[in-house]
Amino acid sequence: MIFDFEMIDSFYKQLDSKIFEIRKRLNHPLTLSEKILFSHIYYNNQTNPVRRGIDYVDFLPDRVAMQDATAQMAILQFMMAGKETTAVPTSVHCDHLILAQAGADDDLKKAGITNKEVYEFLSSVCNKYDIGFWKPGAGIIHQIVLENYAFPGGMMIGTDSHTPNAGGLGMIAIGVGGADAVDVLAGMGWELKLPKLIGIKLTGKLSGWSSAKDIILKISGLLTVKGGTGYIIEYFGEGAESLSCTGKATICNMGAETGATCSIFSFDKSMSDYLIATGRKEISDFASKNKNHLSADKEVYDDPEKYYDQFLEINLSGLEPYINGPFTPDLATPISRMKEEAAKNNWPTDVEVGLIGSCTNSSYEDISRAASVVKNAISKKLTAKSEFTITPGSEQIRSITERDGFLDLFRKIGGEVFANACGPCIGQWARKESDNNKINTIIHSFNRNFAKRNDANPNTHAFVASPEIVTAIALAGKLTFNPITDTLVNADGENVKLAEPEGLDLPPEGFGDIESGYQRPVAGQKEEKIVVDPSSDRLQLLSPFKEWDGKDFLNLPLLIKAKGKCTTDHISMAGFWLKYRGHLENISENYMIGAVNFFNGQTNSIFNQSSGSYDTVPQTARVYRDSGSGSVVVGEENFGEGSSREHAAMEPRFLGVKVVLVKSFARIHETNLKKQGILTLTFYNKDDYQKIREDDRIDITGLSGFATGKQLTVTLTHSDGTKEKFQANHSYNESQIEWFREGSALNIIRKSNKKNVI
Ligand code: SF4
Repeated sequence: MIFDFEMIDSFYKQLDSKIFEIRKRLNHPLTLSEKILFSHIYYNNQTNPVRRGIDYVDFLPDRVAMQDATAQMAILQFMMAGKETTAVPTSVHCDHLILAQAGADDDLKKAGITNKEVYEFLSSVCNKYDIGFWKPGAGIIHQIVLENYAFPGGMMIGTDSHTPNAGGLGMIAIGVGGADAVDVLAGMGWELKLPKLIGIKLTGKLSGWSSAKDIILKISGLLTVKGGTGYIIEYFGEGAESLSCTGKATICNMGAETGATCSIFSFDKSMSDYLIATGRKEISDFASKNKNHLSADKEVYDDPEKYYDQFLEINLSGLEPYINGPFTPDLATPISRMKEEAAKNNWPTDVEVGLIGSCTNSSYEDISRAASVVKNAISKKLTAKSEFTITPGSEQIRSITERDGFLDLFRKIGGEVFANACGPCIGQWARKESDNNKINTIIHSFNRNFAKRNDANPNTHAFVASPEIVTAIALAGKLTFNPITDTLVNADGENVKLAEPEGLDLPPEGFGDIESGYQRPVAGQKEEKIVVDPSSDRLQLLSPFKEWDGKDFLNLPLLIKAKGKCTTDHISMAGFWLKYRGHLENISENYMIGAVNFFNGQTNSIFNQSSGSYDTVPQTARVYRDSGSGSVVVGEENFGEGSSREHAAMEPRFLGVKVVLVKSFARIHETNLKKQGILTLTFYNKDDYQKIREDDRIDITGLSGFATGKQLTVTLTHSDGTKEKFQANHSYNESQIEWFREGSALNIIRKSNKKNVI
């Protein structure tokens, strides 16, 4: 079955004329990223947004994918828009909430109980709004997207950082926060600063123990975890063409570890083969007909330094396997140097667990190569010294690797097969080791290895490598084992050497016809009312925020004057609170609890003007809200930097904060606050921050004449009766002023769809 065939057909039919227009507009040879980005512009009348790294552009992606943890709040918001269906094809994937503990069957059963209400909610809203729903156990979001939804030249957003995985099929695929997803679901343009471009030419060909994973491990080391920020990485060259489609996806997936907006490869035979093998020959035909639009122009490849903002060249023929880590994915060590580096840094070299799979590396090619290592080891009477686990990326992959005997090979060396879900990659791993502080080493083929990412132990040294290297090291039980040069002692006491891995890009027996775990939206569910148990502590239906009453804000108490760095993590902490992502009231109990109070240097301890004593931030905000006054939050520079977390903007609105006044905002957080109807202001004179006292009452006046570029006035009334007045700037445009007046951006859409409001 081909999903969204009509949309894809229509996309390719229009591509030629769109590229013609783009050429006229840009008037220079085009990179692949430019072709895709500019063929997805939202408004045709946007003024020439051609300055990479400077201009903000509204895009219209072709589709949205959401994982179960982030989908909850995004969908709860979308429900308020009053739409009958999502503006673009959308899918939800139940992968993040499954705990890996006792093997696939038991873990899935347990997840079905623990997350019952979340799954039922997501399943029913997907039916109602015509959203594709992938049940728990169906697979991990990015693998499912690659197998079913991605198409060359398309553009998608996903509420998960590793959405760029779909770049392996030539798609611009970008990880976003829930607020961005809501924009696209509700039919608004999606804003992105036009990315800069890094061109990477791959020459030569991989061989032996080296794999696509080693390319991105090396690049992560070169670019570091920040070097790709604000860039799209575009790969090309004969080395790129020699890689399998799923190998390309691995590289794009882990490009997120450089901070890159996304990564992309141009359409080639490997993509065509993968599309055909996964039952999408028609899409392969469409793409083949448009091949010249699905790669950069020849002039770009001939003179890449002229057209890319940065350019790198990597020879795959000389590439050796890498092991990255611990604690960061950009600490890249070629395998031949690991003995030296481990000794120098005192890394524990006994490997307790080797883990393969995840969304990053669980293709047929990955699993077959790892299985060939195991097969060879068994034939040479070797057993695994470390624990070994396998997380298939999808039911599709699990079923064919079971059919073809690979999973049995893993079981023969003690391998444990977990559910087709994120599991240990996201800390959803009930590890058998009980000492949560033991210094130890694990190695996996996932993408991230920050402290506590895989288990709860901050002393777990997690290393990242390709599945075949992870397998070899799990057999040896030693981080310093290099299968290219070293031997192992087998059951007969002989020194034996592992043969180089062998694998196949695609399954010779095909992907088969399996029960994939997809739930097709059921016809006739549109009228269904979505019911959420009012006593649930994980889900809560939202109510629209009130529109502005047309009056100036007068006599608002200061809630908190935050000192120093205040990221979205300080504003809305993660960790324990993640389980409340679908429950605004409960998650609002973490509002600003990580921010430092300017007046006492403490967190979550602020002066409550009503009681005259110190209290928590959420409790004090609630008191001010319930008294009818609301409150003001004050902060310093780059307020709200960090991941785009819509809760960080929804919580203050829910708790009655009316104004956030800071020295400067992180742009995304500022926009998120505006969307929720909070007035965002910046000090005209940054020194005015010093004037604000703990027990101030604050007026914001001039709102009746609220207009683009026009300052508003802030008046402080101190407790001694004195007053101070100063000007504040804002960055609202006309439509954003409407968001403020109407109470939120969603309220505007809601009004225009009144008949469908739930
Ligand atoms: S497997 Fe890991 S990287 Fe992939 S979606 Fe799940 S948590 Fe994210």
